[in-house]
Amino acid sequence: METKALTSIAIIGAGPAGLALALSLHMHAPHIRTSLYELRSPTTSLYGAVTFSPNSIQILDKLGVYQRIKDHGFEFEDIVFKDSSNVTTDVYCMGKEQFGYKALRVYRRIVLRELRAVAADRGISVFYGRKFSKVVDEGEEGVTFEFEDGTRESASLLVGADGIHSPVRQYIHPDASPIYSGNMCITSAVKRSQLRLPTPYFPLPSSISSTLGVVVLAPQDPAGEEILVLTQRQHPEQDKEKWDIVRNNKHKLHSILQTGKETWPDVVQSALEHLDIQKLSVWPFYLVPGLTTWKSEKGGVIIIGDAAHAIPPPAGQGASQALEDAFSFSYLVSKLSKLDDRNEALMKWEKYRMARMERVTELTRKLSNRRLPAEALVKLLLEDVFVDGAKEGQSWLYEPRIEKTVDDLLSKLTKISDPAIESNLDLLSMLTTSKTPEPAVESKLAASLTAAALILSVSSGKAIA
Ligand SMILES: Cc1cc2nc3c(=O)[nH]c(=O)nc-3n(C[C@H](O)[C@H](O)[C@H](O)COP(=O)(O)OP(=O)(O)OC[C@H]3O[C@@H](n4cnc5c(N)ncnc54)[C@H](O)[C@@H]3O)c2cc1C
Repeated sequence: METKALTSIAIIGAGPAGLALALSLHMHAPHIRTSLYELRSPTTSLYGAVTFSPNSIQILDKLGVYQRIKDHGFEFEDIVFKDSSNVTTDVYCMGKEQFGYKALRVYRRIVLRELRAVAADRGISVFYGRKFSKVVDEGEEGVTFEFEDGTRESASLLVGADGIHSPVRQYIHPDASPIYSGNMCITSAVKRSQLRLPTPYFPLPSSISSTLGVVVLAPQDPAGEEILVLTQRQHPEQDKEKWDIVRNNKHKLHSILQTGKETWPDVVQSALEHLDIQKLSVWPFYLVPGLTTWKSEKGGVIIIGDAAHAIPPPAGQGASQALEDAFSFSYLVSKLSKLDDRNEALMKWEKYRMARMERVTELTRKLSNRRLPAEALVKLLLEDVFVDGAKEGQSWLYEPRIEKTVDDLLSKLTKISDPAIESNLDLLSMLTTSKTPEPAVESKLAASLTAAALILSVSSGKAIA
């Protein structure tokens, strides 16, 4: 597989990871034909917001998406931890100008709408209503895969960006199923004017603790008028249908939240009194167990985003890490034609991404512990709990230097002896395999053929034909 030209990439799943990957590939490796397959229709209604921090906002900015979503979301810097007496116990930085951007909380439907719009502007093919079912064959020529309706497609590489219950992952790890953490988040929203905010000032977003755990209040529209209300509860695992029943039983969820209401500080009580019952929902926390690899043995099938490493929400890094995967992977792909061993490069990339996810998971674990009820919290060691955001420092998280990291890890790999020849051979192979090369590729090809002929005429052994 290593020596074959990489001419096409198929992506399963048009969530944040899949769409960002298609856009990043268009930016880093425009000569590669990219096709995106998504089971849902683009009109599927999605409620809820997602937080992006500087590490992923810089990616959205490079992809031309950030400016389109910025004014639709709420910008902020910190989440403030409050105890039940309104004392600030810690501050967790989610973004700051010093990292290039503040954090942005914005509705998921807006993010996906704008990612799709930019993809359409760039002529990227997204096929909706296509449910991937299995890999049929992975060989020298690439990967052939099948959809639920029995139709088949092929590509040089197949990327599973198909979320936590990823069917693509089953090809690489048939026995790895997501693990339920035992906890679910209950979410809803309230209007800011309905909150009895302590005077003279109460910071939002805030994470407010009591003996029952933590309630997060976080603005999620540009004016900061709509406030997310989120809390975590233990709940037995359900199958998919039963989770839908739990999710849709708004009155039951409402009554769960009202239990022990009097133990919360007044600002939380006001949120619980006024929360929008129709917007009540649940988010069961599943985790993808630590996988030994994110790629198939032959290197033709890869998983990214939640498919590879779904994590619980406390660090707000699920979507951000999915975007880092997409951007770093596409940058790596743009360099593959210059390397002897594609599989080795993929292994290096995977190692780098896994090490980073390990650190994010550890941060998530400590922040999760910070949300435990007081009696559980006191039983933990200090090193198991997130304390003092200022001291922890977050430049490792928010300034990922993706291109430099990938360049550094590739610099240690064997390079093809004459990159000029190889890149021209790649262009030639593209011409013979792609029916409709993009105009930019065609002109690059025309400009480089003369150079290729010249180089080849004086080099030994390699022939174009
Ligand atoms: C309620 C909620 C709130 C969250 N809040 C935050 C937050 O504040 N900050 C944060 O960083 N993260 C948050 N997350 C996590 C974040 O949403 C995920 O980490 C992120 O969406 C992962 O992106 P992804 O593209 O990898 O997967 P997904 O978003 O799950 O996208 C996968 C896509 O693949 C498609 N698909 C699945 N199976 C198939 C198939 N067989 N064939 C074709 N297509 C398929 C799906 O329809 C979907 O569109 C939240 C998640 C939830 C559920």
